[in-house]
Amino acid sequence: MQNYVFVIDAERKPLNPISPARARELLTKQKAVVIRRYPFTIMLKAKIETPTLKPLTLKLDPGSKVTGIAILEGERVIWAANLEHRGQQIKSDLTKRLSIRRTRRSRKTRYRQPRFSNRSRRQGWLAPSLLHRFLSIETWVKRLCKYSPITEIVMELVKFDTQKMQAETIEGVQYQQGTLWGYQVREYLLEKWGRCCAYCNSSGVPLQIDHIKPKSKGGSDRISNLTLACERCNLAKGNKPVEDFLKKDSARLRKIRSMALQPLKDAAAVNSTRWALYSTLKALLPIKSSSGAQTKYNRLRFGLVKEHWIDASCTGDLNHIIFSTQQPLLIKASGWGKREMVTKNKYGFPVLNKEGNQALKTRSPVQYGFRTGDIVRANVPKGKHQGVHLGRVSVRESGAFDVTTPLGKLQSIRHKHCQPIHRKDGYSYSFHPMSTIVQ
Ligand SMILES: [Zn+2]
Repeated sequence: MQNYVFVIDAERKPLNPISPARARELLTKQKAVVIRRYPFTIMLKAKIETPTLKPLTLKLDPGSKVTGIAILEGERVIWAANLEHRGQQIKSDLTKRLSIRRTRRSRKTRYRQPRFSNRSRRQGWLAPSLLHRFLSIETWVKRLCKYSPITEIVMELVKFDTQKMQAETIEGVQYQQGTLWGYQVREYLLEKWGRCCAYCNSSGVPLQIDHIKPKSKGGSDRISNLTLACERCNLAKGNKPVEDFLKKDSARLRKIRSMALQPLKDAAAVNSTRWALYSTLKALLPIKSSSGAQTKYNRLRFGLVKEHWIDASCTGDLNHIIFSTQQPLLIKASGWGKREMVTKNKYGFPVLNKEGNQALKTRSPVQYGFRTGDIVRANVPKGKHQGVHLGRVSVRESGAFDVTTPLGKLQSIRHKHCQPIHRKDGYSYSFHPMSTIVQ
């Protein structure tokens, strides 16, 4: 089962995505044309006067390396993707540049005044690697909204929904193990108390939820009165007030008391990229935030494997889930190349050619109408590489291009045998092998 195909009408208005079989039918009957390869989008030749549109939900699970994206029609996942970021690449490039510039200070050159007092950061500044993550997600949300009638966004914003947790008191936590509420409380307590018994620090044993001030002595069910204890400590403590139980260990008593009162906020701060994303997307479409605990709860309840796009599908409130696709599009941010005019060696010096001159890159990035990074179909009539190949092109001034296909790199493919399929857009694309989604 593959991703659904995006459809737009003759006036470029988005219609509901259709199944690949239906799209194939429209294309063979010549009622539609392909206008975009990634994501696969077709355009109807006819104008649709009053289309009946089913509202779609876009779900996002922003991660540090990969962001999961899913489009749902009701409770059916019809399109999914994993968006791989290049934050680490950006960070290492900047560190490299920094170290090269820094060596300049110790070299025998004119004195350069250090520049630091004239640098201020504007409000809401994000580190370049984080900014990239934020911008690429925004790009893809806008792109998907252009090709499908998305009416709502759900994104994972926080680890725990602390507002809800603070507002409600928990009636009989022990009996709510199976519900989202009980699951969230338990996950939260595990995080807050460091996954070990609060009274003896033993970890790796089953932990029980313990009321610091016992219920029989008037202790509340609020989360600030709860901690985790191993079975032995829980039995030993029983109905005793915590002061009696920890009579001989006043240091631990003090620690537990201060930990218990710590605000929920500290354990679940919203990270800056997600927050920036949330406030930007809010301006585009109605948005709902969801918690990581809820995602995990849904995923475990439906017995699904851990994958970024599956996590994205599981965010928010769900009673049921159906997968109409099992093959997400893998989108990898590959950047737009470098602007430097000269290739540098690892010490930052220009690489010289045989004559001892700097080999300046003066040639145009566009050769014979192609750019490095375009995806092409190469139809080679004869020779070693005879046949039809689909892959990413690297242009050469000579007109003999390299084409990288999933099977390997083909060299010296003439430009006249290449036909562009998807113009370079800063991303490379592939498909996940068809995989099982159920555990
Ligand atoms: Zn214990």
